Amino acid sequence: MNCPIYKKCGGCQLRNLSYEEQLSLKQSKIIKLIGRYCHVDEIIGMENPYNYRNKVQAAFGMTRGGKIISGVYQSKSHRIVCVDECRLEDKKADEIIVTIRNMMKHYRMLPYNEDTGVGFLRHVLVKRGFTSGEIMVVLVTGTSVFPCKNDFIKELLRLHPEITTIVQNINNKFTSMVLGEKETVIYGNGYIEDVLCGKRFRISPKSFYQINPVQTEVLYGKAVEFALLTGKEKVIDAYCGIGTIGIVASDKAGEVIGCELNADAVADARVNAKINGVENIKFFCADAGEFMLGMKEAGEKCDVLFMDPPRAGSDKRFLSSAVSLSPDRIVYISCNPETQQRDLFYLTKNGYKVKKIQPVDMFPFTNHVETVVLLSRDFSNS
Ligand code: SAH
Repeated sequence: MNCPIYKKCGGCQLRNLSYEEQLSLKQSKIIKLIGRYCHVDEIIGMENPYNYRNKVQAAFGMTRGGKIISGVYQSKSHRIVCVDECRLEDKKADEIIVTIRNMMKHYRMLPYNEDTGVGFLRHVLVKRGFTSGEIMVVLVTGTSVFPCKNDFIKELLRLHPEITTIVQNINNKFTSMVLGEKETVIYGNGYIEDVLCGKRFRISPKSFYQINPVQTEVLYGKAVEFALLTGKEKVIDAYCGIGTIGIVASDKAGEVIGCELNADAVADARVNAKINGVENIKFFCADAGEFMLGMKEAGEKCDVLFMDPPRAGSDKRFLSSAVSLSPDRIVYISCNPETQQRDLFYLTKNGYKVKKIQPVDMFPFTNHVETVVLLSRDFSNS
């Protein structure tokens, strides 16, 4: 893939490989890491592995010559590489970011300088619902005072009438986190909705939502298929985010309990259950391990556990409470096979057997790979 900034950006680690070669590299990686537990099904790739990212984030800064730039941080540094377009990102999102960058001079809007704390615009985050077409623009600013706000927003909407909501997020801390705590909705309702696996989902600026919706449908489809639901099961969706997996599985389950640490995501999850008319699901804001321990102590049971932890994987507390709750099946979705390998080691030492492994390519041209693993309780030793 040709890209004028690939060296500085560093985001496409596999750009030198054809898409076929990328897939076989990822397949071998999974076989090497967890193939000893079970046969690895063939990785599911994308038909069109470009422009798949529905969420685009750009940092704003200024060159020594005083030119405003926006883009990504050069790998392992804090220097911004200016990006006009990226083959992996949604085209419309890239266009909006360039428009904002070009508008800044006229409105005398300065990029925020992280060293001095002077300036205004720090990052722009664009999220787009691929199915719904809704677009959210989040302007992350170093101060809450927004000079020429009304004119700026009016002009941005004139140039991009497809934007459905604009949010100002204030981040005045010395931090590498993009979003700050405080948010003000400037235009629209402050969130977007998207459709996934036939269900509608509300997505807030801070909530996690899978960045490749085309492959997410494939991933969730496999996860639900692996769970072998018959309509009676009590299901836990641990690390549930805005409730996507649990809501998609709810039609086939008796009862679903979602658990998530981020309060904004839990609020979205509750709304999502309502919009979809799902009545057999409940969401709790808590550490997933602690929550399941509580369930165990209360004498509750669980038939199927979906777990979809962040890159760091699960912790011992989670894994030991999962084992003590003793679901018949665990469907482990992971975006990091290294931590998944570690967690599978624990689960297979504690009464579970790996039955299926399905890699899905959610992140073409990067070296990331997602896997769905089915584990069943192993009765052979009991
Ligand atoms: N299943 C969801 C989200 C997966 S991302 C989806 O597919 O969209 C992982 C989620 O785990 C994030 O929403 C994050 O906020 C949450 N999380 C991180 N640590 C957690 C913990 N200790 N307990 C519960 N949730 C946690």
